[in-house]
Amino acid sequence: MTRPALFLDRDGVINVDHGYVHRWEDFEYVPGIVELIRHFNGLDWPVVVVTNQSGIARGYYSEEQMHALHAALQADLAQQGARLDAVYFCPYLKGAPVAAYDRNSPDRKPKPGMLLRAAREMGLDLAASILIGDGERDIIAAQVAGARGFLFKGVNVWDFARARVLPELT
Ligand SMILES: [Mg+2]
Repeated sequence: MTRPALFLDRDGVINVDHGYVHRWEDFEYVPGIVELIRHFNGLDWPVVVVTNQSGIARGYYSEEQMHALHAALQADLAQQGARLDAVYFCPYLKGAPVAAYDRNSPDRKPKPGMLLRAAREMGLDLAASILIGDGERDIIAAQVAGARGFLFKGVNVWDFARARVLPELT
């Protein structure tokens, strides 16, 4: 028994992409994201973040700092009745200065590794799943994984989802 998921890119979809955001005080929600997450929580679709975090390989911040940011995010979402069911991240980047993370990874979008792993670990139906991302590589990762990708280029992601995504689910 598998179920569909909502995959979300992080930077540019959940938070405004100020560039390598890694501190809660710099974390600014994309308008409408809490409503979007809450909606899919209510549908019992797992909401799964899939995020390239090459800032770790570039030495801008540590995995621990990223996890602390995500813990603060989850706590804040909980206060608003919303929940992320899982966060998959890729800290690797070939040629980056932090040796431990200097490698090609099948997880780095546009490669689909994070989606495939989430499907395996969470029992997801990729063909019924959707991804919302703000970059071409997000959409490619979704397509290679067999899911449907939606490129968000607007301002309010809940307005976008209601206009473009939800009608596709019926
Ligand atoms: Mg993005």
